[in-house]
Amino acid sequence: MALFFHYLSLAYLLHGIALTLAVTAYGLAGGLGAGIVLAAMQLSGQKGLAALARGYTVVFRGTPLILQMVFVYDALPHFGVRWSAVASAGVALAANEAPFIAEILRSGILGVDRGQVLAGRALGMPGRVLMRHVVAPQAIRTMIPAFGNEAVSALKNSSLASFISVQELTLRSTQLASSTFDFFSVFFASGLLYLVLTGSVSLLQLGAERVLDLDRQATGSMRGLARRLRGAAWWRRPRDLAQPAPRATTPEDPSRSCGVAIDRQQRAQRLASAPIALELRGLSKSYGEHRIFSELDLRVHSGEVVALLGPSGSGKSTLLRCLNRLEVWDSGTVLIGGHRMGMSPGGVVLGPSAVARQRVELGVGMVFQHFNLFAHVSARENIAGPLRWVLGWSAREADARAQELLDRVGLADRAEALPRHLSGGQQQRVAIARAIAPRPRVLLLDEPTSALDPEMVGEVLEVIRRLAREEGLTMLISTHQLRFAEEVADRVVFLAQGRIVEEGPAHTVLHAPSHALTSRFIRVMAAGQLSGAPA
Ligand code: ADP
Ligand code: MG
Repeated sequence: MALFFHYLSLAYLLHGIALTLAVTAYGLAGGLGAGIVLAAMQLSGQKGLAALARGYTVVFRGTPLILQMVFVYDALPHFGVRWSAVASAGVALAANEAPFIAEILRSGILGVDRGQVLAGRALGMPGRVLMRHVVAPQAIRTMIPAFGNEAVSALKNSSLASFISVQELTLRSTQLASSTFDFFSVFFASGLLYLVLTGSVSLLQLGAERVLDLDRQATGSMRGLARRLRGAAWWRRPRDLAQPAPRATTPEDPSRSCGVAIDRQQRAQRLASAPIALELRGLSKSYGEHRIFSELDLRVHSGEVVALLGPSGSGKSTLLRCLNRLEVWDSGTVLIGGHRMGMSPGGVVLGPSAVARQRVELGVGMVFQHFNLFAHVSARENIAGPLRWVLGWSAREADARAQELLDRVGLADRAEALPRHLSGGQQQRVAIARAIAPRPRVLLLDEPTSALDPEMVGEVLEVIRRLAREEGLTMLISTHQLRFAEEVADRVVFLAQGRIVEEGPAHTVLHAPSHALTSRFIRVMAAGQLSGAPA
């Protein structure tokens, strides 16, 4: 036992640990650098680069590390590349770790929900900004356990450096055991030293997991508490967009319906002379052989609210995604404020970064069916973050705008809450606030209430209703809420079988549809929704 403790503190073995750590550190740092390059090549979408990266992966993942070390140490000098034994071991370990680390990076990045990426792109984030602020922070959290595994495995694999005479822990233990013949005590001490090293890595991993634990961040820190208290704004009376506005009259009041009709007429006249905010000309889109819609023409005036109706699968979401170029179409033109979406003024097709800029410049916002709030940041940061990252606002300006909007959607007291700690209705209200924060000209809403529990539909519809009434936003809303469409929309457009089957004033289309498909759809949907639906 005394000998065991003696070996445990022997400088000869402890110096071996230093070399073990050096080889491991070279291997992990080099492997991370090369892994990032390999992952980027595979995710680049360039076939040549991806094939090259895959070829590298096949070779270096498919051959033993020991051969790679011997190759670097013994064979490369024949080609004039000469390194010390430690550096050779580090380089070989890095080359071997790179494909494993690249796969961890790739799985982390691909594992981030596609909705997060769509939301970031819709907010005008170019790829670099999206990666830095949305994808990487979420991916890193999920990659920590795999990285911990990889670090432990690199630490153990560094023992193979003993084959090229690096005086690391394993080689020194073997040498000590051969000279003392005390195999048991030496290897037991050496094993314990390895356990201390790998145990430290595990502790580091646990620490990193704790630091990056969103739930802890959300409730733990004093800073978080201070921000929550600030966000509560309990001394202010919120101008609550989510609360239904007091009704002066009831829906049944005949004088009201007469007033509404006159209002609508006046509004329709005003809208007819407003400039065109959004126009489709001959828009066609297929997925492979599957034709989604063809030759769509549509003009939406500035300030007009259009409800897009249609059976499930008729292409409403696809159309809305085309409008801000989240989806590429086959032929036709989308004009926002007279500018061709996805094209330069000279008619050249724009690349992803230029399209991202264009979304911001032309002012197209989007609200998604599944909210797609950035899962790793608070409600406030969901709104303020894109204003800073994309538009370059100062933190003070962005926070003030976020607070103002949260106030208006009735969520001032939930500013610091993570999306997952909000109800569906609250998340959608934050998503709407986020979409209108940069003051877009056109807002696209893709079934904003269909993922909500019935009791939460009202609060979201009320926010949209007020946006339409008070902000004069041009809106295109795909929805199955017929009563809401009737109340809020100036016009209903009915999409079915790949074309616009019918369009017209909301009340007319919903109560006296002229096409059999519209009529059938409204009859099915109206059960319990519309009073006096067509028989
Ligand atoms: P809606 O929103 O009206 O329910 P969608 O626009 O989601 O309809 O879908 C229209 C059709 O396009 C559906 O048949 C759907 O399966 C198909 N589709 C949607 N997205 C894709 C895609 N990325 N790849 C292939 N087919 C798709
Ligand atoms: Mg849809």
